[in-house]
Amino acid sequence: MPQAATVPMMSLPSSSPISLPVLSPSGRSNGPQAIGESERTRIADDLRALGMKDVRFAKSDRMLYSTEASIYQVDPIGVVVLDRPRDAVTVVRYCAEKKLPVLPRGGGTSLNGQTVNVAVVLDFSAHCRGIIAIDAEAKRCHVEPGVVLDQLNDALKSKRLMFAPDPNTGGHNNIGGMIGNNSAGAHSILYGRTSEHVLGLDVVFADGSTHRLDEGSCERDPAQRAIARAMADIALPLRDEIRARFPKIVRHVDGYNLDLFLEQLDRSTPGTFDRVNLATYVCGSEGTLATILEAELNLVAAPSKTGLAIVGFDSVDASLDALATMLSTTPAAVELVDDTIIDLARKNTEYARYVELMPQPTSGRALGAVMYVEYFGFAADGSDIRAKFGELKSKLPHAPIQCHLDPSAMKNAWTLRRACEPLLHGLPGARKPIGFVEDTAVAPERLPGFIREFKAILANHGTFAAFFAHASVGCLHIRPLLSLKSDTDREDMKAISTEIADLVVRHGGALSGEHGMGRSRTHLAERYFGAPLVDAMRRIAAVWDPDGRMNPGTKIRWTDPNTMVESLRVKPAATVLGIDGSNVYFDYEKEHGFGSAVEMCNGAGLCRRLTAGTMCPSYQVLRDERHSTRGRGNHLRLAITGQFSDDGKSPRWDDPDVYETLRLCLSCKACKSECPSNVDIAKLKAEYQAQRYRTTGVPLQARAFGAVRTLNRMGSLVHPIANALSRFPPFRWLQEKTLGLDRRRSMPPFGRSALRWMASRESTSSIAPDNAQVRAPAVVLFADCFATFSEPHVAHAAVETLEAFGYRVVMPDLGCCGRAQISMGDLERAKLTCAGTANALLAAVERERAVAVVALEPSCLSALKDDWQELKMDVGRSALVRLRDMSFLVEEFLDRRWDAHPKRPSFLAPTEDVVLHGHCHQKALWGSDSSAALLRRALGERITVLSTGCCGMAGSFGFTTDRFDLSMQIGEQSVFPAVRAAADATVCAPGTSCRHQILDGTARHALHPIEIVRRLLS
Ligand SMILES: Cc1cc2nc3c(=O)[nH]c(=O)nc-3n(C[C@H](O)[C@H](O)[C@H](O)COP(=O)(O)OP(=O)(O)OC[C@H]3O[C@@H](n4cnc5c(N)ncnc54)[C@H](O)[C@@H]3O)c2cc1C
Ligand code: SF4
Ligand code: SF4
Repeated sequence: MPQAATVPMMSLPSSSPISLPVLSPSGRSNGPQAIGESERTRIADDLRALGMKDVRFAKSDRMLYSTEASIYQVDPIGVVVLDRPRDAVTVVRYCAEKKLPVLPRGGGTSLNGQTVNVAVVLDFSAHCRGIIAIDAEAKRCHVEPGVVLDQLNDALKSKRLMFAPDPNTGGHNNIGGMIGNNSAGAHSILYGRTSEHVLGLDVVFADGSTHRLDEGSCERDPAQRAIARAMADIALPLRDEIRARFPKIVRHVDGYNLDLFLEQLDRSTPGTFDRVNLATYVCGSEGTLATILEAELNLVAAPSKTGLAIVGFDSVDASLDALATMLSTTPAAVELVDDTIIDLARKNTEYARYVELMPQPTSGRALGAVMYVEYFGFAADGSDIRAKFGELKSKLPHAPIQCHLDPSAMKNAWTLRRACEPLLHGLPGARKPIGFVEDTAVAPERLPGFIREFKAILANHGTFAAFFAHASVGCLHIRPLLSLKSDTDREDMKAISTEIADLVVRHGGALSGEHGMGRSRTHLAERYFGAPLVDAMRRIAAVWDPDGRMNPGTKIRWTDPNTMVESLRVKPAATVLGIDGSNVYFDYEKEHGFGSAVEMCNGAGLCRRLTAGTMCPSYQVLRDERHSTRGRGNHLRLAITGQFSDDGKSPRWDDPDVYETLRLCLSCKACKSECPSNVDIAKLKAEYQAQRYRTTGVPLQARAFGAVRTLNRMGSLVHPIANALSRFPPFRWLQEKTLGLDRRRSMPPFGRSALRWMASRESTSSIAPDNAQVRAPAVVLFADCFATFSEPHVAHAAVETLEAFGYRVVMPDLGCCGRAQISMGDLERAKLTCAGTANALLAAVERERAVAVVALEPSCLSALKDDWQELKMDVGRSALVRLRDMSFLVEEFLDRRWDAHPKRPSFLAPTEDVVLHGHCHQKALWGSDSSAALLRRALGERITVLSTGCCGMAGSFGFTTDRFDLSMQIGEQSVFPAVRAAADATVCAPGTSCRHQILDGTARHALHPIEIVRRLLS
């Protein structure tokens, strides 16, 4: 392991000193006005001169780090995205010289304001993700602070080891952040908090000196020995006070770990600090003591099997009354989910299906709450877990219990449990679930009484809360519904927090069981610990950081209760000015208005996951906050709420930085379903662009891409010439120069129009249609631009298959679905295009008395079923809803009506394996099974649905010179490797862009599902 203490001192740039008063005498931050833009520029230049490559001090860049998962927003001084942990030493030394505050940051998933401050932010999350060494035998590892928990546990899987603390944000939080917050998760009943698993830390102190902190290092390092000495001098006289005031429960992260320091002192050889480990004291310090460069962690054996019993109750009270019984079965976790969350999950596209994993109430009443009771097992056949299920059932004979051993069912159930907090943000109304008393903890046996009193306090203030999370250790998440825009509610917030602090003290509990103090709780420290202990903690913090420059104010210094209601992300007076419901292009009723649509992101950061789902393809490759859904949502919110405008009020539609942030959004719609708050960036992006185009006009490239149907029609008319031309290098050069179409991208070939094929088929039929044919139910085939003019064989297969099932197929020239214009933000034209096509489609449906509209291309169908429903266009809502409800992908239609088809041809025995890659819009809106179900009927076991994300093409996204490379990198994330791995299988993809991308990325020709079904028809 490299020795941090050997990092050489750098020579500082020669610019004049920057005098930034960090804290006012009251200990409050001076706020963003304390530093001007010119000083920021000077600091940024200095840092660049010191070799920092990614320095973000411009307002729109740094503001992406002004929020986290909390309610706060604070403009930082600037941000350094670190290339490697060691760069932090350079920055911290520079800040020490210039007396600048410093704030280390990981995934930014904190809930109390501890990662936002007027400071130079050090972002470890982008590049400091190295797993340096794993010693499986000694059960230890060394990691960089930006390593994501799930990333580490994936690397440990083959060694049957794991890092035990498991906060809900394991897919995107960082080890540095877990240490900073002393995180713990569902299994803390077995494993405790992060502080129980940190063996050593390499850190840089506020003065720029580097140290290795571990047990025994105080004896080696004079600086650490001096700190330990000073801490002992302050803490020992307060020994009794510390023992009396610190709670005796698993979960508590209030203040600093003085209780653990005392224990280490007690274990040390008299006159030495040989058992003191200052790393333990850094755990939970919320970035206020030292910056972590590397961590040595303890690992535990991973269970070979897990089992999950979900127990249903009529009410939260009933579930808590049964808690002791559940705990008596020695579970690994007991987690509560209440009815508010269950109802919200039922209304969410992604989570509704996971509710089915819960038990059905036997009483006939609705589920009032469920408890997730998890067991770890070590028997290969799972018999020990089954025995536990039996024990639980016998002890709770009247409760409905659903037991799961299937890994994918359990994964889905836990996905729902993890989404509890973000799901709450979907509650309608001005009042939102606000996190400021949300992780109080008491001994589990006190929970029923504690919760009753908690509810009474909320009721006194005219509100209520949802209840969920870690019942096993008495740490429930409770978010009262309040409106941050209301003066009265903000006053209530302060009063509730004080009353709850007193309640916690009465029950011997913790103010914070896992989320820390941040901005919302620091002022309560004296009320909770008493003045002498807080004074001791302040004096100790000053030993580590004499100027109070590390995350200033946080944790122990702020005393004013107003801190908790200041620097809010939602501004009390914030309105979206200059724009109202009448001049936006989309309807925002579902989001409760345009203003709340732009404020829907809660910052929890699920969109920064790297290992699951599609959201967010560009972030998964670039790992840049700016290109996460959260970054895009933040930029849009800041621009639209006037925070990037000169007057600070009017929305700014022409911000080049916001445009740049949106440029790499693929409009894949993954966020619309995967984001628990259903933040719909594709829609907001189109709206933002459209508002911008009101003044700038629509650029040539956007207009050309939006005219895809006309261009494809022209190409099809002269397809031999057009195809030759698109392979002709000078022509490709010209296309690149004028339209930005990258020369490396192959062009989709044109073919003879499927409309002409259909017309000639009808006119050359020598046999007049018989009565049966005339009477056959009609379906309208929505002939999209690609199946019509580029891939007519797909349309042919659809027509022939539908006819084989006994349908009369009508394929009129209806026009374009408007997908390309919507994605380009050319909404003025899209309104006309979509209305024209919708009217033509409605007329065709009426004329033919069609039983359904069937489509081939998921992105066209998503326009009809999703975008058309919200775009304000001149077609009646009920007609659009009717179209939505009768429209399907062709393969989905054939599967859904399986028992009602006029004819049902049999399939040939399959001779091939097929792998299916679903389209992003399909996955987001109606699931890959819409294609897979029919294929399963035809192919049986020989169809595999690939677990792939976005292919990276996304319509015209992957065609342009500025996005081609990213497009191919996104393909390499999951689609290309999965296709390559299925070397002997036929590749199937319903999306035309996906098929094109698969061809360019793997040289494999993918088929539309209906082509596969067609060739299996006997
Ligand atoms: C939906 C949701 C669910 C959550 N569930 C849980 C849960 O079950 N259990 C739980 O404990 N928490 C939970 N949290 C809180 C949070 O996710 C965890 O505390 C998480 O471990 C923080 O990691 P992070 O990388 O996001 O840290 P950040 O939020 O970036 O930082 C956390 C603190 O650590 C400090 N820090 C970060 N990096 C360093 C470094 N290199 N050196 C020194 N200090 C550093 C920061 O200054 C900050 O004070 C939840 C949050 C959300 C939004
Ligand atoms: S976009 Fe959605 S997933 Fe991402 S931080 Fe915001 S609310 Fe969370
Ligand atoms: S639409 Fe897709 S690319 Fe755009 S923000 Fe959402 S998930 Fe990311």
